[in-house]
Amino acid sequence: MPQPLTPATRARIAELLAQGATNKAIRRELGVDKTTAARYRARLGYGPAKQPTPANKSPLTLTEKWHTLARPVEGGHMEWTGRHRLNSGTMVLTHHGREYTARAVAFRIRTGRDPIGRVTAECDRPGCVAPQCVEDDPGRARHRAQFAALVGRATLLTECTAGHPTAVHRRYDRDGRPYCAACHALRDARRRATA
Ligand SMILES: [Zn+2]
Ligand SMILES: [Zn+2]
Repeated sequence: MPQPLTPATRARIAELLAQGATNKAIRRELGVDKTTAARYRARLGYGPAKQPTPANKSPLTLTEKWHTLARPVEGGHMEWTGRHRLNSGTMVLTHHGREYTARAVAFRIRTGRDPIGRVTAECDRPGCVAPQCVEDDPGRARHRAQFAALVGRATLLTECTAGHPTAVHRRYDRDGRPYCAACHALRDARRRATA
């Protein structure tokens, strides 16, 4: 049987409920039994209280938080003032308990969609996170192929020296030099196997 409440306590509960206080806040202020606040809430016809934003939960959106951590620098580039993953150095931020890479968020800011594969900056500034400088796998392939064509390095071969079709596996490095992604992956795998 819960302790009968004094008229003053009952009045204060009603007042706090009217102000939109949570059951927890009422319990904390008045030291009443756990179910009392909930019982009065139901009795007086108040719906569930709006939960306050917890201290560790940012009221900012992911994009807003990203902008507090990316500083514009000369030439339209941006540098990251946020956290880096210890082992890899990857630039990251945490939002509502989830970790995001700075460049994946930058990509989403520009394109409105999630990236496919890895996101890299295709500009010349190391560590750049500017939305207009980052590309995902398809964007990077397209961008580099255009650059290769501009600098006269686009390959006309239909196969690499190992016979992989270039239509599927041709990629370009940042300077427009063509390479075969299939051969590249094989070399990587071999290197890992012997390491
Ligand atoms: Zn840049
Ligand atoms: Zn190949």
